[in-house]
Amino acid sequence: MTPDEIRFAADGMLQSLATWLRLLGYDCLAGKELFGRQLLEQAAAENRVFLTRNSHLADNLPHQLLERCQIAIVASERLPDQLREVVTRFSLHTDEYVFTRCTECNVPLRRVDRAEALGQVPPHVAESETGFWRCPQCGKTFWRGSHVRDSLQRLERWLADGNEPPHARFGL
Ligand SMILES: [Zn+2]
Repeated sequence: MTPDEIRFAADGMLQSLATWLRLLGYDCLAGKELFGRQLLEQAAAENRVFLTRNSHLADNLPHQLLERCQIAIVASERLPDQLREVVTRFSLHTDEYVFTRCTECNVPLRRVDRAEALGQVPPHVAESETGFWRCPQCGKTFWRGSHVRDSLQRLERWLADGNEPPHARFGL
């Protein structure tokens, strides 16, 4: 499924997973202040898959709400396994949409030209790189330098073998 076809909401215990889904380009509602019933209500209203580790979540919730929700229990305890579990279950793309969304703000990045990026990125980057993106919400400018290419290779390996990523979560 593409980011146009599926959106998520991640329960409180899955904040790291939410960041990784955003990194893959998927819309994932999350936040320390968003959890439980309130988040579930919003997920239902916005037609999001609700990801949770809480297998008893449904026990105390009204039927009308549960009927409107798609709840996905994430069984894995470790982040790499959780990510692989969700990627596999929903047939998510792990390369096509990577780095198209701000991992902080959960909004799509906007392509900007070099002139707009000038002053926002180091001079050597402005000179050597051709593609620049900006988050319309936080204003941060991104480019696809070698660090991004390295990160993508690590991500592929990580999803393939399930080991912890070699360096801490891309600095996220
Ligand atoms: Zn942002």
